[in-house]
Amino acid sequence: MITVEEALERVLAHLPARRVATVGLRNAVGEVLAEDVAAAEDSPPFDKALMDGYALLHADVAAGRAEWEVAEVVYAGALPTQPVSAGRTVRIMTGAMLPTGADLVVPHEETESRDGGRRMALRRVLPGMAPGWNVMRRGASGRAGEVVVPAGTRLRAQAIGALAELGRVELQVWARPRVAVLATGNELVPCEREPGPGQIRNSNEPMLLAQLRQFGAEASGLGIACDEAGELQTRIEAGLKSDILLISGGVSAGDRDLIPGALARAGVRCLFHGLNLRPGKPLWFGTHDADARRTLVFGLPGNPVSSMVCAELFVGPAVRALRGTSETGWRTFRAALQADVALTGDRRTFFPAHWTEADGGRVVHALPWEGSSDLRGTAIANGLIDFRQGGRTYAAGEIVDVVEL
Ligand code: AMP
Ligand code: MG
Repeated sequence: MITVEEALERVLAHLPARRVATVGLRNAVGEVLAEDVAAAEDSPPFDKALMDGYALLHADVAAGRAEWEVAEVVYAGALPTQPVSAGRTVRIMTGAMLPTGADLVVPHEETESRDGGRRMALRRVLPGMAPGWNVMRRGASGRAGEVVVPAGTRLRAQAIGALAELGRVELQVWARPRVAVLATGNELVPCEREPGPGQIRNSNEPMLLAQLRQFGAEASGLGIACDEAGELQTRIEAGLKSDILLISGGVSAGDRDLIPGALARAGVRCLFHGLNLRPGKPLWFGTHDADARRTLVFGLPGNPVSSMVCAELFVGPAVRALRGTSETGWRTFRAALQADVALTGDRRTFFPAHWTEADGGRVVHALPWEGSSDLRGTAIANGLIDFRQGGRTYAAGEIVDVVEL
């Protein structure tokens, strides 16, 4: 049996090619940029005042001048028409273009208006009154041609703002992979329906679709297929049109576990079947190549917790890698166990758990959990404790790795 790490390596070594998509700036938050976006112009595009006050010559201040003639008032968005020269100042508002000649802005509070606004007197000379004071020079926050947002950036609100400033209303981002989910099992009914005797609701589909959305995929459900070779074949072929196909159920060793055979007949190449993992030991993974396009196929064990854990550990990293983010791996942290946990069986175990922030770090407790078919026990889980090996007792206070859910 291969290890969890080997399995993840195989998945990540067989990813299909990434696709680029165009999105509007207003819908781009959370997407990953597929191009370097450079500025077409300097920022700011002109020398601008950073304070409401008076634009004047530093040389006047240095020479001890006390009063200036006010040539005009310039508001943000308007253009100065009067140059500044010795003894002549311009009253200016924050964000307005600096008049030619001026090299500093004296804030309003440091001045006195005289003669009905026609003249201005300086109250005092401050040590900070140097050339450039309260002025933002053209290009100070970036030159034309400079990359402002590099490819690979996950677009957060401030990146959206920076791109808007550049006038980039359409962007090239990595396409969200399209992932199809096919549930299999004669016992399944859609979760909207009342199960008959011997039937259960298809809980895996909504759960997997929810996980996929959180991973950043464009997910769609293919409904339920019954355990019959012909039907499985048709449904699998439909699923192979997506970038990733998740099949739930039918990969264990039962008489009705027809998936490995059906996948082989559909031309899907098996890269592993089974690994040292609890829950999720029967996980099946392979690739299908046709028309220069690859589909990754995961056969997830049907037990709901196995499906959930396998999706979290292997499908999540694949989706994130296809979306071009560098944050591909699991989000893990270390925490102290709140109580003893005795593990039976020798497999590596990802145990449903709940963690909280505590004074000195995080504390995690393993939830009461009956195993791979016990989804209820996991409903409040916000993490999975990664117990590297089974068959031993982990003591309260021991530091363990936790995968964040
Ligand atoms: P299988 O992997 O097909 O052998 O299924 C293992 C267990 O998971 C069985 O008890 C199934 O009834 C259950 N199961 C399979 N598929 C689903 C599903 N989509 N939703 C909920 N339970 C399922
Ligand atoms: Mg089944």
